Amino acid sequence: MEKTKKERRCLKCTEVLGDVHASRKFCTPSVNEKDGTINNCKDDYHNAKKKTLRDLAKNVVKFHLGNFKAIDYFFGLGKLVVSTVELEGLGFKASYNFGKRVDPKTNEALVFYLGFLLRGNDKNKLKIEKHEYKF
Ligand SMILES: [Zn+2]
Repeated sequence: MEKTKKERRCLKCTEVLGDVHASRKFCTPSVNEKDGTINNCKDDYHNAKKKTLRDLAKNVVKFHLGNFKAIDYFFGLGKLVVSTVELEGLGFKASYNFGKRVDPKTNEALVFYLGFLLRGNDKNKLKIEKHEYKF
């Protein structure tokens, strides 16, 4: 019985790879004759995967910076007790935080954000405190 050899294709552009080394997964890099750029399916494939992760990280940073700016605005005004409605008016998104705890001494909720924490159990009276993470 004859073994059928599975046709292997480039993971990026799906071109048939032909008779190259069995572990090869991508086309051989080549120069694009139209504009002189280099076609490199291996780099393109991996860069596309990294881009997805980079874009996700950018969005996470964007939300944390937005929350920082909203809290910092009130902190800068010396208004140290705020409501979530006031914060949300500046684009604050409460779900983007760095964790929640309950202060065992006062039984108040502590929600950590970039550079600050919000203290309190009443959404209309949250106390702003500076907080620094040690990375
Ligand atoms: Zn390819």
